[in-house]
Amino acid sequence: MHRQSLVDYGKPLQATEAATPKPLGTEVLLRVSHCGVCHSDIHLQDGYFDLGGGQKLDVRGNRPMPFTLGHEIAGTVEAAGPDAKGVTQGKFYAAYPWIGCGKCGLCARGDEHMCNAPRALGVTVDGGYATHVLVPHPHYLLDVEGIAPGIAGALMCSGLTGYGAIKKAVPYLKFGPLLIVGLGGVGMMGLQFARALTDKPILAADIDKSKREAALKLGAAEAFDPAEAGARKAIMKASGGVGAAVDFAGSDKSLAFAHAVVAKGGAAIVVGLIGGSFTLPVPMFPLRALTIMGSYVGSTGEAREMLDLVKAGKVAPIPVETRPLAETSRSLDDLRAGKIVGRVVITP
Ligand SMILES: [Zn+2]
Ligand SMILES: [Zn+2]
Repeated sequence: MHRQSLVDYGKPLQATEAATPKPLGTEVLLRVSHCGVCHSDIHLQDGYFDLGGGQKLDVRGNRPMPFTLGHEIAGTVEAAGPDAKGVTQGKFYAAYPWIGCGKCGLCARGDEHMCNAPRALGVTVDGGYATHVLVPHPHYLLDVEGIAPGIAGALMCSGLTGYGAIKKAVPYLKFGPLLIVGLGGVGMMGLQFARALTDKPILAADIDKSKREAALKLGAAEAFDPAEAGARKAIMKASGGVGAAVDFAGSDKSLAFAHAVVAKGGAAIVVGLIGGSFTLPVPMFPLRALTIMGSYVGSTGEAREMLDLVKAGKVAPIPVETRPLAETSRSLDDLRAGKIVGRVVITP
């Protein structure tokens, strides 16, 4: 099998070859047809997250090198182990990548994406920037029939992240409307799922005018520029404070903005991973009955719920640019440099 692999942190990916794995037991071998290029691949390539103040969160772990990134995977079943039941040779699936150990309490209750001993495809075990990927069990193959193949894999990351965060926000909308901060790919997905999950008005905030306009087109009631001096006041005036602010940017600036417009009893939900640090006087938590929480992708159950919404036509088609496997490293560079509009999907 051909791969584009990380050979050292902070270095470009390189073409590597390996024997195509033979699936054993419940394993399934997918022939990768599409693998989305994702911002979190950049952090994994760097080996750290920026925590602000010059601090870094080391995410190098003990990945064996060469290591193959890529977690937004879709493909067809090429081979299956003798115990892999219910999979059809040649059928097209998306691979749920946030796989846990399968043995702990979190995994047992279906929250594998929060497992502390993960086997996440393209993060802790080899992923989809390759012609083939090994999936440990048919449970992680999700039916994406009727969904454009180019976005099926991306839905497992940006789609699921958007859906999982909005689902957490919904109970807080009794305190006010929803605010979505950061209308990149994930934020736009979140906005569309929000329209499916709530009748409350949805406000949007982004520093980019074109993104604000796109959000209004997709059904946001109002859009604000957080860089404008009066933006917080304008949101407070328009909403009386929001029930939930979902921060899809995840920077010190975006969270400072998002939490400040939350009504009493409401929540700020951090999703993005840009980085930075955040402080708030402790008494503000009780005085504002404020919740600040994080949301990280979603479970296989949530992935299935989300795919049902996509199949029901609740998400606008996403423009996708496909590129060959050899262009994976260049695509990560382009993403890092902010040169990618829409989505780039590798077609190995
Ligand atoms: Zn991703
Ligand atoms: Zn586990």
